[in-house]
Amino acid sequence: MRIVTSVSGMQRLAKQWRGHGVGVACVPTMGYLHGGHLSLVREARRRVGRAGKVVVTIYVNPTQFGPQEDLSHYPRDFTSDCRLCRAAEVDVIFAPSDQEMYPGNAESRFSTYVVEEQLSQGLEGAARPTHFRGVTTVVAKLFNCVLPEVAVFGAKDWQQAAVVKRMVANLNFPLKIVVAPTVRERAGLALSSRNRYLDAAQRAQATILHHAIQRAQAAVKRQAQSAAQLKADLKKFITTAPLARLDYVEFFDPETLAPVTKVFCGAHIAIAVFFGKTRLIDNGRL
Ligand code: AMP
Repeated sequence: MRIVTSVSGMQRLAKQWRGHGVGVACVPTMGYLHGGHLSLVREARRRVGRAGKVVVTIYVNPTQFGPQEDLSHYPRDFTSDCRLCRAAEVDVIFAPSDQEMYPGNAESRFSTYVVEEQLSQGLEGAARPTHFRGVTTVVAKLFNCVLPEVAVFGAKDWQQAAVVKRMVANLNFPLKIVVAPTVRERAGLALSSRNRYLDAAQRAQATILHHAIQRAQAAVKRQAQSAAQLKADLKKFITTAPLARLDYVEFFDPETLAPVTKVFCGAHIAIAVFFGKTRLIDNGRL
């Protein structure tokens, strides 16, 4: 496994692979890798096979964090990430520095952003106004470094995957976006790097997100529901976890991400909940 830290080094390698007709799959991450990330690595390998190359990018991207968010203390453990990637037979970790991605020198002052203007408006985009501009910008930059033919994202961040797919289609990036299922702990909590912020009591109650999704699934299975009523029911349900503070619960069309007023089988639910300062998100198909 190689560790590449410069944009030029990654591009050189990617061009060599391209020249030899080697397929490349990219898994963009912010590191502090867990089983969810590793499932994306396995999917990436399935897509390109033994002869192809799997590149995991590890970069905590400052432009996708708001001013009050957790950029400075976002968890990092590069040694563990390398060990996990090696065990998962990743070919290359691309781990650029901030200086490499957003150089501060006068010649290369950073002033170009990629902005998706539709799918990124609601849900996380409403709660975190500059978030998706940072995501689309960094993902476009990473694609231009790794030159993958396929990139794997997690359904855990459903809106992110939808926004990236739209960007790829709109800007004619020559690659396919694959979305892999959310990996959960046995009790239902979706794996997330941010789970490490939770203390034992918060962690025990954090399964409320998954349970709320299951509650909505059960309700919709019986019959279509009014979104307003189901939302009110779930808000009340979430108060049964006293450490949880609901940010939002929304029902939406999984393709357009437009809110639905009538919740039916096949619609999607997204939930964001604070435990102290830690903000967890989850979603599911109903
Ligand atoms: P992150 O490092 O949190 O930015 O996530 C990197 C990628 O891993 C994104 O595509 C996420 O959607 C995906 N991911 C994060 N958690 C999970 C999970 N529990 N199951 C599957 N994919 C995940």
